[in-house]
Amino acid sequence: MKILDGKLLAKNLNNELSKKILSYNKEYGRRPHLLVILVGDNPASQVYVKNKEKKAAEVGIKSTVIRLSKNVSENNLLKVIDEANANISVDSILVQLPLPNHINSNKVIDRISIEKDVDGFNSKNIGLLALGRPKVIPCTPLGCYKMLESILDLEGKKVIILGRSNIVGKPLSFLLTNKNATVTLAHSKSKNLQSLCLSSDIIIAAIGKPNFVKKEWVKENAVIIDVGINVIEDKNGLRKIVGDVDYEDVIKKVSFISPVPGGVGPMTIHCLLSNTFLLTKN
Ligand code: NDP
Repeated sequence: MKILDGKLLAKNLNNELSKKILSYNKEYGRRPHLLVILVGDNPASQVYVKNKEKKAAEVGIKSTVIRLSKNVSENNLLKVIDEANANISVDSILVQLPLPNHINSNKVIDRISIEKDVDGFNSKNIGLLALGRPKVIPCTPLGCYKMLESILDLEGKKVIILGRSNIVGKPLSFLLTNKNATVTLAHSKSKNLQSLCLSSDIIIAAIGKPNFVKKEWVKENAVIIDVGINVIEDKNGLRKIVGDVDYEDVIKKVSFISPVPGGVGPMTIHCLLSNTFLLTKN
């Protein structure tokens, strides 16, 4: 069994990226600029945004955060996005999700210009990905793909993705299909999940259910990518983060597994940075 170390892979890829950004900076006299819009005071979102700012600075990307009150109207948020779309000093725009309930997230995401949509969630970007003509690929799916690509050739591999959300499972199914894997996209209404998993070479779990996948579900020498981030209390009442896969249970059976934390999370951030650079160059 080998650990698919997303933290290390992201570190190496970030080093390469920072060199490219340095030479871009030398040539054009400016740094790529990521604009993050944060609405409200959701503690998890605050932590994610801080982390993104820190990592952006490390590779030489300028980041600006616009913080808006949780009561901001949808119209005012759309105006902020329009201004950022028109601002030539901004290369990429990210609206941190989730948004408060009174705001229509789809409308907000679609308002971000396709030229600046760093998360790739805009319906045009998702459509292009589905058609096999991607421009910007959503960060978590792209991070999962880069991890897989670092250890194997996806062509002809049987992959099951657990979870069909618009930000992870669905775009990932398009991406891996484009890369010639045979993909099953499963969800809460799927039947016979265990046997679907048992016949798969690769299991990608993105459902948000702690330790859901057990060894009885996993084929010998399978590869597992665990996207899940779940906060649970351990036996001593201490809070800890675990994935959707029971790591200790499956570890002897698999050939590779990405840990939580230290797997998909750092790769997602790397892809945010690499997408920013991609949009900057474009
Ligand atoms: P959502 O809640 O949007 O989607 C969950 C998906 O899982 C849905 O498609 C749902 O099915 C499916 N599902 C739920 N229960 C089951 C079940 N028992 N069996 C099969 N499928 C099930 O979650 P997200 O996609 O946003 O996130 C998933 C997990 O990944 C979360 O833990 C999240 O924190 C984590 N995450 C991690 C990231 C990272 O960078 N590491 C980035 C993004 C997310 P249905 O559609 O039928 O409801």
